[in-house]
Amino acid sequence: MNRIRLLPEQVANQIAAGEVIERPASVVKELVENSLDAQAARVMVEIQAGGRSLVRVVDDGLGMSRDDALLCLERHATSKIRRAEDLAAIATMGFRGEALPSIASVSRFTLTTRERAADSPEGTQVLISGGKILEVKAAGCAPGTTVEVRQLFFNLPARRKFLRTEETESAHIQHYLTLAALAYPEVAFTYQRDGRLIWQLPAVKTGSDVATRITALRERLRALYGGEQKLLPVDYSVEMRSPDETEDPAGTTSSSLNPQPSSVFRLWGFIGAPGVSRSTREDQHLFVNRRPVENRGLNFALLEGYHTALMKGRYPVCCLFLEIDPAAVDVNIHPAKREVRFHREAEVRRLVAQAVRQTLLDFHAGKPEIGSPLAASRGPSAVVVEPAAGQPVRPTEQIALPNFPAALAPMPAQPPKTSAQQPPLRMGFSSAPPAAEPTLSPPPSQPEPPAAALTPLPPLPPQSPRPAPPGEPVPLLNVPLRLVGVIGRLYVVLESDRGLVLLDQHAAHERILFEQMLNRLEQHDQAPSQRLLLPETVELAARDASFLREQLPALTRLGVGLNEFGERTFLLDALPPFVKAPDARRFVLELVDELKAAGRELNSLRLGEHTVAKTVCRHAVKANDPLAGRELEGLVEDLRHCAMPYTCPHGRPTLIEMNFRELEKKFGRTQ
Ligand code: ADP
Ligand code: MG
Repeated sequence: MNRIRLLPEQVANQIAAGEVIERPASVVKELVENSLDAQAARVMVEIQAGGRSLVRVVDDGLGMSRDDALLCLERHATSKIRRAEDLAAIATMGFRGEALPSIASVSRFTLTTRERAADSPEGTQVLISGGKILEVKAAGCAPGTTVEVRQLFFNLPARRKFLRTEETESAHIQHYLTLAALAYPEVAFTYQRDGRLIWQLPAVKTGSDVATRITALRERLRALYGGEQKLLPVDYSVEMRSPDETEDPAGTTSSSLNPQPSSVFRLWGFIGAPGVSRSTREDQHLFVNRRPVENRGLNFALLEGYHTALMKGRYPVCCLFLEIDPAAVDVNIHPAKREVRFHREAEVRRLVAQAVRQTLLDFHAGKPEIGSPLAASRGPSAVVVEPAAGQPVRPTEQIALPNFPAALAPMPAQPPKTSAQQPPLRMGFSSAPPAAEPTLSPPPSQPEPPAAALTPLPPLPPQSPRPAPPGEPVPLLNVPLRLVGVIGRLYVVLESDRGLVLLDQHAAHERILFEQMLNRLEQHDQAPSQRLLLPETVELAARDASFLREQLPALTRLGVGLNEFGERTFLLDALPPFVKAPDARRFVLELVDELKAAGRELNSLRLGEHTVAKTVCRHAVKANDPLAGRELEGLVEDLRHCAMPYTCPHGRPTLIEMNFRELEKKFGRTQ
């Protein structure tokens, strides 16, 4: 007896829906993607009860003829690809021809559409319930398409039960819409939830060049996000060389005999300025060829790019668009196309990390970003996304950072020294050449007056021309700052023309030492080291001992003299000059613990030396070592010469700022 039979179409569609349509947000995603693929200029989304009772998407796109309106409800009916080869280079959001029949099979579904190009003012309406066509009729409607999905999963009670609360489902929907809105600033989006207007995002003018697109994206970000986010524009492009044999997906051999054309890799968008981060990945928006994606490799590359500019357990804030030859990425690996796979994952990862790192370094160095005409005219600057009028201000977790206008003029070479006790600190735009090797010089022997003496402050040196209007801030260390004093024997209080700046002297010192150490290592292959008068032996557990043994070469290069002295015993006989380790045993144990905790980094990122240096620097200074005026000046100056001055090597901020606007808010002078 034959037991195998073909499933009825309707059942097949429901099975497909099980994969593609997880929840109401999947419906919104599929419908909005269709609208975007149909070149809509305006998309309206309306939901009720978290999308359970209604999802309606209205667009003014190409629309469909009567025949197409019927055909699009058949499985594997699509206008977007024709042949299997097309799968290798997909330029649209959709391509499987699965979404509409799947959704229609698990809901009460109405499609109303009118072809934009047709002369007839008449459109078509198709009514479907649980996959059965109930009615097809002519309908008067505007050009474009409206899809209404009611009572999702009404015929699949088990699926319906799995839906979460209305709030959760709405949050998923809003998350997807945020991504769509970021990827398509030129499209106007309206979003209504339970009759309440949540967003009305006007279309933003944009062009094909990256500079214009960055400007458009900034505008869209401003419209979407209530709070201020300090963001740095990114524009990085390189030629990707042709893949080598091992990575060639087609399996062809000898790429030198048959060279593949190189393709351009481009990464553009915005990343958070140093110190801007979140405790989740929520504000990490990544797109590949305009498609919002999740990819662990990319997440990791971001962290790698931030490196010491990010605290442990914090995530970057970004909106980044990766453009790559569509043939070099596979989008057909996930039912909802959320994940992608790169044919040359390692190289993509390296380039993303490099782009992020370069942007962060250029931000401080005052260099324009690579290849960006926008940046060339503007110079690097954090973009403050101002809240749009009437937008609720969302609580942000960012640390206040550079918020200064860009057009500050260079300071006079010798600022007037108005007070011996309170020398104004000159930072940024210095005409003096930077010190060849910044060092924390020991204090001069003559006694210094306490830095925190409460003497009247001289006015800040005048600036001309006046700062440019806000919105184009420059890095905090590029504006004149003046020392006010030290509080709590740790926090250095500084003043700028914009408000108050606080510096954590311990964090700053760690950053300076960290970079000095790595610079020395680069130049001399060995960081300075000082022999101990009394070498000490340290005994470790067997596991720790074998771990430490592996790290010995890096430690030695960084000035920590540890030698094997038996199975599990080591002899500590030298330390970097700035390390004060009265308890050698504890120092070594802590070092081992911290290096073990960083194990993943050590192995996979090949950042062994950085991690060791970071760990060693932690032991460098005591927070409450009192520093006098001259030393503080040196500290700030040395910090200014760092490549990544805004965070300590562990990613904590070295500087925070409270500008006058924030002060006025706190004192209730303004709202
Ligand atoms: P896919 O998007 O993968 O092609 P769908 O099932 O989502 O598959 O849609 C099937 C087809 O219906 C599309 O290829 C497109 O031609 C047409 N279509 C769907 N939605 C719209 C729309 N909003 N405007 C115009 N055409 C649409
Ligand atoms: Mg589709």
